[in-house]
Amino acid sequence: MKLLIMGRPGAGKGTQAVNIREYYQIPHISTGDMFRAAIKNQTKLGKEAQRYMDQGALVPDEVTIGIVEERLSEPDCQKGFLLDGFPRTIAQAEALDKYLTKNGVQLDAVLDVDVPADILVRRMVGRRVCKNCGATYHVEFNPPKAEGICDVCGKPLIQRADDTEQTAVNRLAVYDKQTAPLLEFYAKKNILKTVNGNQPLSKVFEDIKVVLGD
Ligand SMILES: [Zn+2]
Repeated sequence: MKLLIMGRPGAGKGTQAVNIREYYQIPHISTGDMFRAAIKNQTKLGKEAQRYMDQGALVPDEVTIGIVEERLSEPDCQKGFLLDGFPRTIAQAEALDKYLTKNGVQLDAVLDVDVPADILVRRMVGRRVCKNCGATYHVEFNPPKAEGICDVCGKPLIQRADDTEQTAVNRLAVYDKQTAPLLEFYAKKNILKTVNGNQPLSKVFEDIKVVLGD
């Protein structure tokens, strides 16, 4: 099972990635993990990536692609993998295609965990957290017993600075602009599988299994 998972920030992609990894017994390869591992193991590309990051610069596509290829060539990826956070651009998607073709494999499916942007904005804007004990709430979906007060420790709840409506709308707009061409790229290949992410997490995973032919 060779998969790529996508989804707007807050759509629950992380939870489903864990479910897929456990159920299909394939490695979950997230860009963040790959960078950390490459840097930790001090691979040639890891050192190169670190140089860019130390300068506060974006890691160029070819370095990112190199790190992904290094990871995909490891033995645990031979029977399958779940890519997460890569590719992010058409150039990266084409490079991935080239690499897979060269190795005689192809992606089985690109999963898009789809939650409409306006619903994600409502989820983010209603989020409240307790700075004291870390408990999280939602004014609509999971309210505390007393408004603005943590059920667990009785301290006041706060709204994170980046959970405002404007930040949420901007973040989602940036994501949609970046990924729209990618979704189209995989739709043309007939491997894009859109899953309704706006339902209970267990139901989302049931739907994922269905679109994967399980
Ligand atoms: Zn608390």
